[in-house]
Order: sequence, then C-alpha cells, then structure tokens
Amino acid sequence: MTAPAVRNTLDLIGNTPLVLLKGPSEAAGCEIWGKCEFANPGASVKDRAALWIVRDAEAKGLLQPGGTIVEGTAGNTGIGLALVANALGYKTIIVMPETQSREKMDTLRALGAELVLVPAAPFSNPGHFVHTSRRLAEETEGAIWANQFDNVANRKAHIESTAPEIWNQLEGRLDGFTCAAGTGGTIAGVGLGLKEFDENIRIALTDPHGAALYNYYAHGELKAEGNSVAEGIGQGRITANLEGAPIDTQFRISDEEGIEWVSRLLAEEGLCLGLSSGINVAGAIALGQQLVSEGRKDARVATILCDTGFRYLSSLYNAEWLATKGLPIFPWLRPAA
Ligand code: PMP
Repeated sequence: MTAPAVRNTLDLIGNTPLVLLKGPSEAAGCEIWGKCEFANPGASVKDRAALWIVRDAEAKGLLQPGGTIVEGTAGNTGIGLALVANALGYKTIIVMPETQSREKMDTLRALGAELVLVPAAPFSNPGHFVHTSRRLAEETEGAIWANQFDNVANRKAHIESTAPEIWNQLEGRLDGFTCAAGTGGTIAGVGLGLKEFDENIRIALTDPHGAALYNYYAHGELKAEGNSVAEGIGQGRITANLEGAPIDTQFRISDEEGIEWVSRLLAEEGLCLGLSSGINVAGAIALGQQLVSEGRKDARVATILCDTGFRYLSSLYNAEWLATKGLPIFPWLRPAA
C-alpha cells in the first residue's frame, strides 16, 4: 500500500492509518483497532478540528487574509491551529493553562504562535483559559476566536473525515467505538458519523477520573469524582460539540490503567503515546469485553490514539515526575535500587 502524493501540506491532515493492537485484543478477547492520530502533521487528533474550524471561519467570511486565530487549548489544538495558520498566512495567539506539558509550550513557541500562559482555574472563573482566549480575540483587530469547545465545526471534522476513514479501513465491519472527551468533538463526531453507516455500532464514552461525563451519561447528573493527570481530556459540562452525541454506554478509567497500557503498547508493540491514548485503549478493552460477554466473540472495536508520547517526555515518561504524582513508573525508567 502506497501513501498518497499530495500537492498541499494541509492535505496531510487526516487519512491516518489504523492499526490492530495485539495486547489489547488479547485482553479483550476480540479485535481492538487504534486510529493513529499521532501521524498527523501536528502529531495529534486536533489537527483535524483545527483545519475544519479555520475552513469554516473562512467560508463564513469571518477570517480575512493576514488575520489572527485566537484559541484557548490544552496544547494540541494550538499546535494544529499554528500549523494550519502558517500554511494559510494567518497568525495565532494561544492561551494555555500553565499546568500543561513543557513540551507543548516549547512546541507552540517554536511554531511561531504567540503563547499566553494563565493559571489553572475552574471554568466558572473569568481567568479560565477559555474565557481569557475569548476576551483576547475580542480585543485583537482582525481576530477570530476558534472556540473549539462550542464550535461544531470541530465535530464536523470527525463526522466528515475520521468516521468514514475508520468505516472504510475496516471495510464496513465494526461493532464498537470509544474514546474520551476533551471538547467532545471526537466522540460526538465519530459517533454521529459511524451511526450514519450502521446505527448498531455501540458508541461508548471513556471518561477519566475527575471528569463529569460518566455520571452524566450513567445517571443524568454532571458530577466529577477523583482526578487525573491526563492532558486534553476530562470535561465538566455538555459542550455544544457534545450535544446530541449518540452515547450508548460509558466506562470510567483510572490513570493507573491508562499508564499500564501506555507502558505495554510501548514495550510490546513499539507505540509511543500520550496518556489519553492509554485511557482510550483501556476503555476499548472494556467495550470489547462487554460485547464478547454478550456472545459477540468476533466483535471489532476501534479507538483513537490521540497524540505522540514525545510530547510528554518531562511528565508521563519521567520517573521523578511520576513519583511526585504517586503514579506507576515504567519498569525500564525505574531508578536502580
Ligand atoms: N487527547 C488529547 C491528548 C487531546 O489533546 C485532546 C483534545 N483536547 C483529546 C484527547 C480529546 O479530543 P476532543 O477535544 O475531540 O474531545
């Protein structure tokens, strides 16, 4: 199979490979497939949302040549936006909580984005990164606010690209899909897109601890419990992207379970991933086991491998950092006794 030759760098976004994950498939007793979103130019799933948001703003006449795109982000959307903006002649201003990984900050500066760091704050606080980015967009001449949480161009990216890609890659045979939610664009968009192909595909939300969506879909109540160090996932409200998402069932996955799969996928299968990917894989195993327990032994489940682990060398892949968080350390990183 030969990858396509493209004339425009933006055409490098999407059309990512899908890989069968051996350890997870064995654990689930059925096929678990991972969509390699780390293979996007910005090394994350958020390149798709960035491209669709910018194209949507252009189509609506909101973004003029040389204009500025302002966004609040955990980092990956900012990286995607900075690359798309560079390719199309726009500037980017990225507002990020200072708790995010050092690598994401360095990357954003290296790509030419103007980086604004704000203290981590609850969404109700006007200093929260999302509100700060909206204000900055209003104050900046010729700027638009990407607004990834409530701009449904985000989930449209997944309805129009990610979902049909997965369906075609698996030649129209898929039983379940799951992933975690940050903005909710991926789970809602892939869910809606896949249901158009086959409404029987079971769509599961995989929620980290510290997020409110598990309780919302299980009991109708937005209530968060515990916490997580995973970046880019964990939502406390129903964003516009999540509205009407076809969630059939839900799982809650701990950081420890996610780290176990990040560690195993690296050591046994040569995949270097971020923690949200590990949490997604643990969720996919839970969904696979659920389908198998219902007698569907040949079930096939897909999930998202959201971003590259290279983005977390100073955190998830750093023994000292993991120790300060009380989290398990990959065996090969443990200091000699
Ligand atoms: N994983 C990572 C590493 C992310 O940066 C994001 C985006 N916030 C997600 C998962 C979740 O994607 P979405 O915003 O589409 O819910």
